Amino acid sequence: MLGSKDNAVVGRPPCKKCLLGQADAGELEKSIDGLILLIPDEDRADDEAYRSRLAKCDECAALNEGTCGECGCFVRLRAAKRAKGCPVGKWQPLTHKAIPQDAGR
Ligand code: SF4
Repeated sequence: MLGSKDNAVVGRPPCKKCLLGQADAGELEKSIDGLILLIPDEDRADDEAYRSRLAKCDECAALNEGTCGECGCFVRLRAAKRAKGCPVGKWQPLTHKAIPQDAGR
């Protein structure tokens, strides 16, 4: 049974995909897309950084079907957030985007 002690990896957070159990993979990907779209522009990583981050995840032994074995996150969602970094330092948080002084006026 998912979430039982038998499946727990000692010292690591639970994988979000495992917590969702039998969630349909296609629906899960759509949900992640939706969550990425909800990230405000100023908090979202630019396309180049996003792709570069995911390329590093792609080569990482900790990657497990879209989740990170180190922190349990969905890597696409983590990589889409400027302020997030890889939990073991393979890619870094980005500085916050400068907001023009006249924004919102
Ligand atoms: S976030 Fe870091 S540790 Fe996790 S899969 Fe990506 S590169 Fe690997």
